[in-house]
Amino acid sequence: MLDVQDLKKSYSGPQGQLPVLDGVSLRLEAGSSLALMGESGSGKSTLLHLVAGLDQADSGAIWVAGQSLAGLDEAGRAAFRRDRVAVIFQQFNLIPSLRVVDNLAFQARLAGAVDSTWLDWLTERLGLQALLHRYPEQLSGGQQQRVAVGRALAVRPPLVLADEPTGNLDEESADQVMALLLELVQQAGSSLLMVTHSNALAARLDRQLILKAGRVHGSAV
Ligand code: ADP
Ligand code: MG
Repeated sequence: MLDVQDLKKSYSGPQGQLPVLDGVSLRLEAGSSLALMGESGSGKSTLLHLVAGLDQADSGAIWVAGQSLAGLDEAGRAAFRRDRVAVIFQQFNLIPSLRVVDNLAFQARLAGAVDSTWLDWLTERLGLQALLHRYPEQLSGGQQQRVAVGRALAVRPPLVLADEPTGNLDEESADQVMALLLELVQQAGSSLLMVTHSNALAARLDRQLILKAGRVHGSAV
């Protein structure tokens, strides 16, 4: 489902090139989940952004659902981001001018993949029926992140990427969002690559890796 081979990425800064990823390889089978851990600044978000097609690597290969990102031009990457992956961010990233109902359907509409039966089921399971006509600013953090989970899974993407999805939530909301995310990812048949700081959360996923000094290492949590 996801195959990352020898990925390298550095940023240019005032002191020259800052290497962040120095040969990262990992695989994620269809329908399975992987936790990516590592200290702040170790490059977890960088790796997620590359896999999401939001940024380009210096070298290496990324394959998602049989498609290589390397050969894609800007239009191809836009189509990839629309159809193949969905991203859940720590800061929710809902569209402020759209009501919940339209945030939920946003990516699915772009992708031409609206399945109203599935969307209705997701809405109910996420407990969002009574909130459909609100704007994001009228929601709590936990409610906003439930909308973001629904928006991501509405597309039933092959791959869901989540960058510390509960990092901004209180413990109770975090537990609730995480339980729903794991359940719905499974229902959608998607694979999940999730960045987390929490050993307890990482342990709920199928596999765990740690990013350190630009490389990934196995982890037993
Ligand atoms: P993590 O998510 O593990 O905390 P990041 O991937 O956000 O780490 O960042 C890894 C390193 O790359 C950090 O040193 C960060 O300052 C640097 N970095 C991230 N994005 C950029 C950017 N757009 N330009 C320059 N440096 C960046
Ligand atoms: Mg990060």
